[in-house]
Amino acid sequence: MTASLRHDAETILLQLGVPAAQITGGNRAVRSPIDGSVIAHVHDTTADAAHQAIASAHTAFQAWRNVPAPRRGELIRLFGEELRAHKDGLGRLVSLEVGKITSEGLGEVQEMIDICDFAVGLSRQLYGLTIATERSEHRMMETWHPLGVTGIISAFNFPVAVWSWNAALALVCGNSIVWKPSEKTPLTALATHALLGRAIARFGAVPEGLASVLIGGREVGEALVDHEAVKLVSATGSTRMGREVAPRVAARFARAVLELGGNNAAIVCPTADLDLTLRGVAFAAMGTAGQRCTTLRRLFVHDSVYDQLVPRLRQAYGSVKIGNPLETGTLIGPLIDAAAFTAMQAALAECRSAGGTVTGGARMHEAAHPDAYYVQPALVEMPGQTGPVLRETFAPILYVIRYTDFETALALHNDVPQGLSSSIFTNDLREAEAFLSARGSDCGIANVNIGPSGAEIGGAFGGEKETGGGRESGSDAWKAYMRRATNTINYGRTLPLAQGVTFDVG
Ligand code: NAD
Repeated sequence: MTASLRHDAETILLQLGVPAAQITGGNRAVRSPIDGSVIAHVHDTTADAAHQAIASAHTAFQAWRNVPAPRRGELIRLFGEELRAHKDGLGRLVSLEVGKITSEGLGEVQEMIDICDFAVGLSRQLYGLTIATERSEHRMMETWHPLGVTGIISAFNFPVAVWSWNAALALVCGNSIVWKPSEKTPLTALATHALLGRAIARFGAVPEGLASVLIGGREVGEALVDHEAVKLVSATGSTRMGREVAPRVAARFARAVLELGGNNAAIVCPTADLDLTLRGVAFAAMGTAGQRCTTLRRLFVHDSVYDQLVPRLRQAYGSVKIGNPLETGTLIGPLIDAAAFTAMQAALAECRSAGGTVTGGARMHEAAHPDAYYVQPALVEMPGQTGPVLRETFAPILYVIRYTDFETALALHNDVPQGLSSSIFTNDLREAEAFLSARGSDCGIANVNIGPSGAEIGGAFGGEKETGGGRESGSDAWKAYMRRATNTINYGRTLPLAQGVTFDVG
């Protein structure tokens, strides 16, 4: 498979406009998790080049902020057209570089198209309030202005969609962007950047340095984190990364949007539609080989339905097709690398010692692909919420815990450090509404009768607690990419002071 994967990737990259020199002869080998083979060699950005890119992004920002927002939206509209035209190629490249099954690779590009559409509409809004003032012949309002250079650090598992959530909003908001993709996924970043370059060429008159990509590891990310000109750092990745990035950004009083790890749960109640629940749980827990930030990791099942649902789940776990993500019918592709496999096995060993019963979890296709890491998804029936259940292991492990009392299940649901996404499966209105209420799920995303993964771009995306508190994508997430000014205008001939203060100087 090796030669063909490399050839496949090269063909797509060239078609999308990436120069051959960017993907050959570099210091960094890029591997496909499909068979572990090297499919390109990219060049890391030097520290000097990174600083240069940030400096020119700052200069570009000073011009771009003066371009009317709807005109900025036109650039994103053109970019959306490029994405539509090249959806198949970019989607396949996502599959080659990350191992996503074909429909998920394409779905990732569709998400990029969707946020472009959203951002184009937004470019004619970006509205502020008019606020009642206590002084006569005065008017008070708020205006939203471009913020500055936006640094985007992204994770491997959504190598291009998460960038697009940030990039589309940042650009219509009048900011320039500098992107540090995951060191595991530079190819999809270079391809996306080439497509944006095409949109820029069609748009014309875009300031030099408006958008750039920095290739490399965390030290390149650190250049973004620490640079004075970067006014917003939007960082997606592990909680460990967020713990390192957040204080550094705060130390220079810049803004951070943090999108970190999750440990998402669902509660299955006595009235749940079990057919629907089975499908919802299967996709949320096994899809993307458990490598979504919103992957379902903890399942609380009511005692009265446990023995109906869990055997069916076990059967579903045993019957999914695991293998080459490019093949029709495959539902589970590979883990990203050996480290992910090792972390999964370590978590399963801990579960066994804690009294858990593990179904699945074994390595597959090892003989055919010794450098690729395919695994059976694991279903682990746990006696309680302890040990690895409290952490995010970025692999397909679903911990199943039996409960009898709704309030106890809800308390356990919230009793983890992370707070990204959550679900309840029920037809009982009281349980559903309690789950969505102030005393319910403490996550940034709370769903009823659908799984916790697979968000649409229209809503704000992000989570609480160790997930970082950031919000991206829809709703009013755009506000993080702008600075707010409150303006008071006196159109009278006197100068009344607020709060009745007098200060007569003559
Ligand atoms: P990771 O933390 O290893 O890396 C993420 C990015 O941060 C990479 O680009 C990396 O180079 C960079 N980085 C790491 N340390 C850094 C530092 N000290 N300074 C600057 N940059 C640094 O994460 P990963 O393995 O690529 O992705 C998986 C993780 O991402 C999971 O925890 C997952 O839940 C999380 N994730 C969260 C969301 C969300 O929206 N909440 C979305 C996708 C992924």
